[in-house]
Amino acid sequence: SHVSAVLDELCATVEDYPSEGIVFKDLTPVFADGPAFKTMVDAIANAFEGSFDAVAGIEARGFLLAAAAAYATGTGVITIRKAGKLPREVFAESYALEYGEATLELHKEDVPAGTRVLILDDVLATGGTIGAAAALLERSGAVVAGVGVVLEIEGLPGRSNLADYEVVSLQKV
Ligand code: 5GP
Repeated sequence: SHVSAVLDELCATVEDYPSEGIVFKDLTPVFADGPAFKTMVDAIANAFEGSFDAVAGIEARGFLLAAAAAYATGTGVITIRKAGKLPREVFAESYALEYGEATLELHKEDVPAGTRVLILDDVLATGGTIGAAAALLERSGAVVAGVGVVLEIEGLPGRSNLADYEVVSLQKV
């Protein structure tokens, strides 16, 4: 498809980042290219057309996708942030990383109950990050309308860890 060709052309692959043995997919060249950015955002938003009232982005690269998709569809944008960044009362969810753990937070009052929320992030690997985001939204009383990512790393349990949700990836790598 067109979006797949654009991603093949512009996505960079960085070996041994952030640590030895990890192959890191870097989407910043896609974000930096106007037509490519629009193609990518529209492809994700269109996959869930009409099924969401707000778009949640996961700090930080997910913010770029979520803001653009929300603006394009006239929906709200919700920020799911790393621990300690939000000033009011939060829900918090911790999840395992390869080494150690991380915590994501969501303001308790940002999402009205029943809001249908599309979750966006750049890359789905193990699914820990998006799983935590989904748990936060559900604790708020929101309904997860779906999960959209640009790249899905194959050979990891990301999709099976998110089996409760409709997961759309633009490309598997
Ligand atoms: P997971 O929690 O699914 O294992 O990892 C996904 C999170 O780590 C996402 O927030 C994503 O931004 C980041 N991530 C993991 N692997 C990569 C990668 O190869 N490239 C980029 N850009 N982000 C990654």
